[in-house]
Amino acid sequence: MSAAHPEPLRASASRAHEGAEAPDPLSGLAPALFMGLGSDGVYARTALYERVLERLAALIDRLRDVRAEVLRFPPVMNRRQLERSGYLKSFPNLLGCVSVLHGSEAAIRAAADRCETGGDWTASLGAADLVLTPAACYPLYPLVAGRGPLPPGGLIFDVAADCFRREPSRMLDRLQSFRMREFVRFGSPEDIVAFREGWIARARELAAELALPYAVDIANDPFFGRVGQLMAVSQLQQSLKFELLIPYHARARPTACMSFNYHREHFGQVWGIKGSGAEPAHTGCVAFGIDRLAVALFANHGLDPDQWPASARRTLAL
Ligand code: 5GP
Ligand code: ZN
Repeated sequence: MSAAHPEPLRASASRAHEGAEAPDPLSGLAPALFMGLGSDGVYARTALYERVLERLAALIDRLRDVRAEVLRFPPVMNRRQLERSGYLKSFPNLLGCVSVLHGSEAAIRAAADRCETGGDWTASLGAADLVLTPAACYPLYPLVAGRGPLPPGGLIFDVAADCFRREPSRMLDRLQSFRMREFVRFGSPEDIVAFREGWIARARELAAELALPYAVDIANDPFFGRVGQLMAVSQLQQSLKFELLIPYHARARPTACMSFNYHREHFGQVWGIKGSGAEPAHTGCVAFGIDRLAVALFANHGLDPDQWPASARRTLAL
């Protein structure tokens, strides 16, 4: 197979504007961590990389609230559920939808045969009832709604999924297919705010223990289009999203490696999830971008985990 990366993967978007003489501090990383599979942002991961990712996942296991229910989701989810969640209003440009060949055996055969003859077999595809999961918590809300009102004190979950967002890029921190781990809280506004504040504090400690440079900052999602700009302003004004930002090297624009989200009553309202009273439940989630955290560790500490700072090794039980 020919090399899938004719140009090296890069650290962050900001690098593209730097002078040609400035060597990319991360240029040596990618070959040891990822192997190209023909599409930007979709990679095979090496044993070295997976070892660190598994240690990160085990660390997050240890940080889990004892009350949390653990669920793991597939990389696809029901299309109607995602439509109802409002995803198409916010990020229609990022969504991947599963499409398949429908129809009679003859129709499917004719379409598939066009591939052999150099024709466009994809013209016959039609949307299935599945989309590619864009964030690990979306499948959870309808599932919880089906259980009736929340118990006193609300609920907490530990979820994970392979997520897809249509953002092809050669940047090491921008994958189309990446893994997301989340803790998701259902309860009163006070429950969610306390959950989020607690996790922002814990994430700071975690970054320090991993010997990573970091900052926590208020954030907004990259909502689509002009209407999206208003959504972003409203998200900022209401302080609904914070992120843990980690630079991959001294001159790099920092990468968002975790997010701390307060959805207010959005999912409670959409799915009819009730708290103790008649009011819709509030929800919030803390997302660990475990692929970004793993790359951050390699970028800051080098390719040999045995040589990483002692506190990082201890924290990861390496
Ligand atoms: P959010 O839903 O806040 O956009 O994403 C949650 C977390 O998933 C982010 O903080 C980040 O760590 C991770 N994430 C989001 N987009 C990407 C991406 O394109 N590539 C990788 N590797 N991780 C991502
Ligand atoms: Zn979430």
